[in-house]
Amino acid sequence: AHSMKNKTVALFGLGGSGIATAKAIMAGGADILAWDDNPESVERAIAAGITTGDLRQADWKVFSSFVLSPGVPLTHPRPHWTVDLARGAGVEIIGDIELFVRERNRAAPGCPFIAITGTNGKSTTTALIAHIIKSSGRDMQLGGNIGTAVMTLAPPADDRHYVVECSSYQIDLAPSLNPAAGILLNLTPDHLDRHGTMQHYADIKERLVAGSDTAIVGVDDAYCAQIADRLERTGKPVIRISKRQPVAEGFFAEGSKLMHASAGRTEEIASIEGIGSLRGEHNAQNALAALAACLTVGLSVEEIRAGLKSFPGLAHRMEQVARVGRVLFINDSKATNADAAAPALSSFERIYWIAGGLPKEGGIASLSGFFPRIAKAYLIGEAAPQFAATLGEAVPYQISGTIAAAVEHAARDAEADNGAEPVVLLSPACASFDQFQNFEKRGDAFRQAVMALEAVRI
Ligand code: ADP
Repeated sequence: AHSMKNKTVALFGLGGSGIATAKAIMAGGADILAWDDNPESVERAIAAGITTGDLRQADWKVFSSFVLSPGVPLTHPRPHWTVDLARGAGVEIIGDIELFVRERNRAAPGCPFIAITGTNGKSTTTALIAHIIKSSGRDMQLGGNIGTAVMTLAPPADDRHYVVECSSYQIDLAPSLNPAAGILLNLTPDHLDRHGTMQHYADIKERLVAGSDTAIVGVDDAYCAQIADRLERTGKPVIRISKRQPVAEGFFAEGSKLMHASAGRTEEIASIEGIGSLRGEHNAQNALAALAACLTVGLSVEEIRAGLKSFPGLAHRMEQVARVGRVLFINDSKATNADAAAPALSSFERIYWIAGGLPKEGGIASLSGFFPRIAKAYLIGEAAPQFAATLGEAVPYQISGTIAAAVEHAARDAEADNGAEPVVLLSPACASFDQFQNFEKRGDAFRQAVMALEAVRI
């Protein structure tokens, strides 16, 4: 990070990505003083050659910047004391995305940089764009909130493409964020615990598109539609996308057709028909955003079509893990609340639904519109009695208890179903922590149980 050359930088958070960020800052010729609440992390940083010191004892006047590392999750109690000390000393507080942006603006300001945010679909859209660009043979770097710390990516160069997923937290800590193409997919009330009000949350997300050369905005919710209008009034190039209705200028979905509207003409430019990893209306939104972004940075329609077709999808998000006879097995373990389970439930017609875990407020009552699609439910975890009560007479169910039992029960019933395409769907609408370490482990358990079935039957 040469933008920090000869400066002294404070950094808090020495997990893996924090250490990588600290090293990048040092490699750019800055001095660093790094700290973490966890003594083991401090030990590891020392072993990695990073200067550490308790930031509570430090003289904050020497610091030009305070970097909160990407490894400091927002769900942890924020290290308020460091933030307070930085504020008190008038030291700017930034994150790793800001470091990356400054580096890009210094070394390769024109390099194609796409940033993605929104309440839902960030990772899918980010992965899809990365896949399309990579498949086209271009130099592509993928990072940010999706997993890889941006400071560990290859350094900015003119023809290097960056695809970066940004959380609200990262946008908040990146005041210079100015991607070539910025995507705001959607905004729904979520994470309000972290950001206070919906308006504040929306304002932070708006900053990503407001700073973009071209703003790509999903206009299917009222907040985003207003943002698109507001940006356009300031003269910003705006591309609107809609998963459900035609837009005057921009991109919209007509079923699985991706349409372009411009100067009064509309034409189909790609289709996601039959692409299993992009099933469902929500994925039409993701695909439209990817299409708009890839066109903006200069890919051809042919390259985009080819990339859409070969996209493998992301694990645990409506992931097709197997097809046994006519039965599809879908792993949507990432759906940790009712809202997140809705897209999967709306994407299939004959559902053998595995649900439950650690219940969230509100349960599954909001999903009742999908109940007619559910042939039977198999309930697991602590939520089972509560979900059973909600399903009541409307949906047949059994309490299976565990994923393994649920897969067995659901598979048996689905195989006996003579209708079109029965689907065994894990979309739990619950957190996983009563039975698993995280949603990934839960999805892995589902896949294993399905594989075990196949082994028995083949
Ligand atoms: P994020 O990274 O924003 O959490 P993901 O791409 O990981 O989003 O998708 C998480 C879940 O959210 C998916 O399993 C799906 O149920 C739902 N989802 C994905 N894309 C969208 C979208 N565009 N709109 C609404 N829900 C979506």
